[in-house]
Amino acid sequence: MWFRRDLRLGDNPALLAAIENSDEIVPLFILDPKLIKQAGNKRLAYLANSLRSLDESLGGKLHVVAGDQVEVLKSYKAAEVHISKEYEPYGAARDQRVADSGINLIETGSPYAVAPGRVRKPDDTNYRVYTPFYKGWMAHGWRNPVAAPKEINAFGPNKAQREFPDWKTDCEIPLAGESNALARFAWFKANALDSYDEQRNMAGIDGTSKMSAPLKFGEVHPRTLLFGLGASKAHDTFRKEIAWREFYADVLFHNPNTIDEYYTPKFANMRYDQPGEKFKAWCEGKTGYPFVDAAMRQLVTTGWMHNRTRMVVASFLVKDLHIEWQHGANFFMEHLVDFDPASNSHGWQWTAGCGTDASPYYRVFNPTEQGRKFDPDGDYIRKYIPELAALPNELIHEPGLSYIAPIVDHKVERLESLARLDEIKG
Ligand SMILES: Cc1cc2nc3c(=O)[nH]c(=O)nc-3n(C[C@H](O)[C@H](O)[C@H](O)COP(=O)(O)OP(=O)(O)OC[C@H]3O[C@@H](n4cnc5c(N)ncnc54)[C@H](O)[C@@H]3O)c2cc1C
Repeated sequence: MWFRRDLRLGDNPALLAAIENSDEIVPLFILDPKLIKQAGNKRLAYLANSLRSLDESLGGKLHVVAGDQVEVLKSYKAAEVHISKEYEPYGAARDQRVADSGINLIETGSPYAVAPGRVRKPDDTNYRVYTPFYKGWMAHGWRNPVAAPKEINAFGPNKAQREFPDWKTDCEIPLAGESNALARFAWFKANALDSYDEQRNMAGIDGTSKMSAPLKFGEVHPRTLLFGLGASKAHDTFRKEIAWREFYADVLFHNPNTIDEYYTPKFANMRYDQPGEKFKAWCEGKTGYPFVDAAMRQLVTTGWMHNRTRMVVASFLVKDLHIEWQHGANFFMEHLVDFDPASNSHGWQWTAGCGTDASPYYRVFNPTEQGRKFDPDGDYIRKYIPELAALPNELIHEPGLSYIAPIVDHKVERLESLARLDEIKG
């Protein structure tokens, strides 16, 4: 059983298939130098913790080996290698290479409720817009979660097969592992799910599930999250967010180049500025716009950022600083614990106005107004920018007060952004 983005025992069809087909399985994780290189220490520390947790639930039998996947897998001389199928470009190409090498790769399940490529329009083409995709996704449906295996007869590793990484971070990253993910989800269901539709945009409130990292590493399967949701507005809103993840995976599957290329190609011809001092200020949370800066500091110190502020900082980078979205997406890739190629590239493209949404490019987020609306009491800003904590609520969102001077004037840059858009119209 080759674990990759499914670091769990519950609701894991590939693991069940492996157990069904043999008396003794080898549970294996392969450390991939390429993926390690692009991840910052927060994501690596989370992965290291997640592997330890999986190992514990396997009674210390997890094999962890670094190296080329084909070489590592061949060294085991396994008759069958069970996996859950990957759809994003890098993972799919890696699995193809493994299969081409003659290894008997058996794919069961995927990290999605409905695998990319399955939801089709009546004319059998793929969806390009979210809302009709959502309807098709609901109509397609998915199976209920399956239970964890009662018993796992696993072949233990030797010393060389226990290359557990000791990646660490001083940042406050979330607790990793299947049981922590399920405990957090139980907390969310009991305390926040029923008000999710009202609270999910409020940046200073712990009102979202925080399931993005568990989903990224497969500590929980989306079917487990969808199971038992009702028809209320709050539950439906939550189901729709899970569907965004599935939609973006489907879009990337059909358009693998959009991981770093424009989904709407004409945006590649727009005039952009090179990343320099202003980009550095954005990365460091020093733009002088409190809501933007709080968000960037949240990202760098915790490895997670609220969805509302992901949109605000992305809009600010592209439309106020005129920097191409890929620079921001790469910075997110380094710092997010939940980094997901499809949700990240398409979350960026959606906000930049070149993505799947019919959302017009001329919709430019006002970073000050967004703060007033989605952090009215300034709790979020006070948490991440303590130097502003003493300001009263009515002033805390104002750029330029008792705080570093704003690096740009939003009103001016909004017009500049629209002027650049005009140049590529037609
Ligand atoms: C610029 C930008 C970059 C992003 N990069 C990533 C990324 O790398 N990885 C990632 O998982 N999400 C990304 N998102 C989506 C979203 O911000 C996060 O999934 C969400 O904030 C995670 O918090 P949560 O688990 O508490 O979400 P909840 O609100 O509890 O939502 C539940 C789940 O639904 C899914 N979801 C929610 N919103 C979205 C969305 N807009 N797009 C896709 N899936 C969604 C996630 O899997 C999430 O865990 C990005 C959004 C933007 C605007």
